[in-house]
Amino acid sequence: MDVPNAGYVLERKVFDRVLTEMAANAGADIIVKARATGVKKDDNGYVNGIVFRYSARDYTVKAKVVIAADGIESQVGRWAGIDTTHDLRDIDVCAQYLISNIDIEPEYCDFYVGREIAPRGYIWVFPKGADIANVGVGIGGTISGKGGKLAIDYLNEFVKRKFPQGKIIGQVVGAVPVGDSLPKLVGNGILIVGDAAHHSDPISGGGIANAMYSGMFAADTAVDCLKKGDVSAKALSIYEGRWDREIGKHFKRICRIRDEALKFSDEMFDRCAAVLNRMPAEKVNMPTIFKTVLKHQPRLLLELRHLILAGWV
Ligand SMILES: Cc1cc2nc3c(=O)[nH]c(=O)nc-3n(C[C@H](O)[C@H](O)[C@H](O)COP(=O)(O)OP(=O)(O)OC[C@H]3O[C@@H](n4cnc5c(N)ncnc54)[C@H](O)[C@@H]3O)c2cc1C
Repeated sequence: MDVPNAGYVLERKVFDRVLTEMAANAGADIIVKARATGVKKDDNGYVNGIVFRYSARDYTVKAKVVIAADGIESQVGRWAGIDTTHDLRDIDVCAQYLISNIDIEPEYCDFYVGREIAPRGYIWVFPKGADIANVGVGIGGTISGKGGKLAIDYLNEFVKRKFPQGKIIGQVVGAVPVGDSLPKLVGNGILIVGDAAHHSDPISGGGIANAMYSGMFAADTAVDCLKKGDVSAKALSIYEGRWDREIGKHFKRICRIRDEALKFSDEMFDRCAAVLNRMPAEKVNMPTIFKTVLKHQPRLLLELRHLILAGWV
């Protein structure tokens, strides 16, 4: 499908470095290769700094407010007393190769869904050039290891079948949150953002854009609260409200849709794809999908009723 402004494929290493550069140019001090090991609290229990280890020495840095952006394995929130742990059902385990020398259509991102090839997840092929792509798989956290198969095994099977001539030149493994947002995003003197706050999309697992939104909402709130001289959890909860209004409510809907879509058989996915294939790309929108399904596969509409009730249309 050609969907205008569908999104961007970015070079993550370059992207992160440029963001860091922009922050530095705006006045931030950057300390690389430093590992946070704890939070500091004042006598009233407000977080007011971070302890970190750098070059085999421990340091403390004071802060009027701390923003925890430490990813899926986040500990900073936990040190401050906020439970950031994930339920295994709410994560997907991922493995990804960067593969060169492959035959792809560089203008398109490919997604493969199916219980056999990627149980409770999907396989992606995201082009990085004319003959090079990120090829990855995500599978359900509770499925990983079942029958002795890990995400990397599913990926290897796919790559062997689809890109036997490809050259693997990079590898990334990790997990993504695919549940709802953490209910509690703030404490006294602290806000939690991005994957640390479980802000990846519950269906796609994509979290870069959401991490940027939650980072922006948290930073705006922190600035306002610092100006008012109040960094209590109550004052910082403006961030929670903004997250819920602008993105959180969609997450709840997406979680419901996900729960229904997970009941699909592979055959059902094939029939949905067949319907989509009948439509000119520029007409792929919910009302047209609805009409096409009604015309060509009315039974599908009946089968999709739970999805529709969950808020898909
Ligand atoms: C294989 C794979 C492929 C993915 N593909 C996509 C994709 O195509 N599109 C998309 O939108 N999302 C994708 N994601 C998800 C995306 O990577 C995350 O949602 C996103 O990176 C979250 O950003 P973040 O800043 O919250 O966390 P992160 O990017 O994880 O950054 C957290 C940082 O904190 C650092 N850190 C952690 N603990 C400490 C500590 N104690 N002290 C100091 N530093 C610490 C980590 O080293 C890391 O640099 C993918 C994830 C995986 C695993």
